[in-house]
Amino acid sequence: AAVLKQINSRSTSEPAANRPAGNKRHPWSDELENKLQNVFNLTSFRENQLNAINAVLSGKDVFVLMPTGGGKSLCYQLPAIVKRGKMETTVVVSPLISLMQDQIDHLKRLNINAEMISSKESAQSRKDAFRKFRNGELDMIYLSPEMLSKSQQCKNTIKLLYDSGNLARIVIDEAHCVSSWGHDFRPDYKLLGFFKKEYPDIPMMALTATASVRVKQDILSQLGIEHAHVFQQTFNRPNLIYMVRPKNKNSTFEMINEIKMRFPRFTGIVYCNSKTQCESVANMLQTNGLSAAFYHAGMGNEDRTNVQNMWQSGDIKIVCATVAFGMGIDKPDVRFVYHHSIPRSLEGYYQECGRGGRDGKTAFCTLYYQFADFKSIESQIKRDKDLKSQVLKDRHLEKLRNVLNYCSNRIDCRRKLVLQYFNENFNSKQCRKTCDNCKSTNTVEVRDITESAKDIINIVKKTQTWDVTINYVIDVYRGSRVQKIVQNGHDMLPEHGKGSHYHKEDLQRVIQLLMDEKCLFEKTETKAQFTHSYVKYRHDLNKPLTLAFFIPTVDSPSRSNSRPNSGYGVSGYARTGTSINRMNDILENNTTLSKEKLKELQA
Ligand code: ADP
Ligand code: MG
Ligand code: ZN
Repeated sequence: AAVLKQINSRSTSEPAANRPAGNKRHPWSDELENKLQNVFNLTSFRENQLNAINAVLSGKDVFVLMPTGGGKSLCYQLPAIVKRGKMETTVVVSPLISLMQDQIDHLKRLNINAEMISSKESAQSRKDAFRKFRNGELDMIYLSPEMLSKSQQCKNTIKLLYDSGNLARIVIDEAHCVSSWGHDFRPDYKLLGFFKKEYPDIPMMALTATASVRVKQDILSQLGIEHAHVFQQTFNRPNLIYMVRPKNKNSTFEMINEIKMRFPRFTGIVYCNSKTQCESVANMLQTNGLSAAFYHAGMGNEDRTNVQNMWQSGDIKIVCATVAFGMGIDKPDVRFVYHHSIPRSLEGYYQECGRGGRDGKTAFCTLYYQFADFKSIESQIKRDKDLKSQVLKDRHLEKLRNVLNYCSNRIDCRRKLVLQYFNENFNSKQCRKTCDNCKSTNTVEVRDITESAKDIINIVKKTQTWDVTINYVIDVYRGSRVQKIVQNGHDMLPEHGKGSHYHKEDLQRVIQLLMDEKCLFEKTETKAQFTHSYVKYRHDLNKPLTLAFFIPTVDSPSRSNSRPNSGYGVSGYARTGTSINRMNDILENNTTLSKEKLKELQA
């Protein structure tokens, strides 16, 4: 305990406000410290862990918001074995079987009595688990959400435990799944609200890495724990380096080269947007001599578990996956996370990047962005039959637009932009140039685009009867004479060619802005299984508009090829022939990449 206190008081990252409460002694403090060291083999607590544990052991409802890898599991696993001689059982709800299995294996290795029950087990093992559960033999029981809310046997057993005073608390892990505002809504989680109604005096602990205010409020009210003690900390992950790059036909090769040169022996994830993309990217990686596999929802459970296990053990280095991969997986040494396509929400993006660098060492998060991917995900959402109401669709579309804004923003600190979404006001000075925008030496210029916006609105107005796409409007404005435009006579419009000085990408941003302003809107139509989106006119612009433009420095490559090198790009290293070994040294031995180190590498 003395050692522990010393470590705690030496911790400077911990806000002062956390310390007094954390050091306060409780009747359980001795047992707690003893088990932290002797069962979990850990020496000290991380930020907020001790406070959250003390709160739940005091019988309070607790809500823990901690970034991925922050150490949420300990917040409920440790109190589950601090029983002061009682026969109590902690009930844990978790969304994924594989995730539960990992935790059970881990807990069993630590000699903690834990079992899981889900609809996927064999009848026999379920029966065994139920027996132990009923007899109060377990420290922890992991349940899938549908078990807890639907299985009568499960409900009865909980009631039994409750009546005998042995129901310690209920834990809802990955609690964002309860909210349809979250990026990973699970209908079964919605039913968990019954718990507090039935057992108002049993403490509940909800945990998540998602902290947008909206999701947070939603979780608290859905679960019926509005008065919970909330433990929240900064979501910034200083050891992750964020980059956004334009995507073109060379991007996959650029990525492969980069992996080969910078991460030859390291583990990573490549997030893709579809099953076919997962497979084709994995295939290309393999063809290029990299150790890769794919992982997506279309595979059988066994295949998925296999891939996950091989990746976790290091037999496979890279997994090309859809978002289904990685939730709750604890692999500390993930050095790179690529988004081969844009993610669907910034929360999802944050979580996925968050799977990198859990060991505290530098990890690189690179997102490839092209407008076409935005449009294709947008139409996927519009067609998605699982999104039953328009309201739900609109929420998803709004999230996707936030991603678009993030990607096309070349000015603001990436950390600031992501954390802003979690309502955290991050000071971009603290980024210390560890994102491409902060690192960039390029400048931006804010220009008045009111006249151009009016021109574009005019084009849309005058082409209404043709059902034209965004790209068609842009082509007209930039003066294209492709057959269709000429046939329709739209090369004769006075606005034709007036926007020839614009980059296509910038005009996409202008149109998006006009949609945000509700001057324009998109009409979608499904014909023969294909969804088409057309741009339509709603009303004129009634205020001046400005937009920030990116001014490349003289020596940066032309923007149509690739993003001017941010200093983290592979081309920088390729050109200057940086020693890969030195890069690896940094990856292996260092926690953060200082500005000086980066300069040295590029020298
Ligand atoms: P989360 O659920 O918040 O994403 P986990 O609970 O899976 O994170 O923990 C991530 C990693 O951090 C695990 O390897 C865990 O053992 C480690 N960890 C958690 N708490 C501590 C601690 N107090 N000291 C050292 N390591 C810890
Ligand atoms: Mg977790
Ligand atoms: Zn930054």
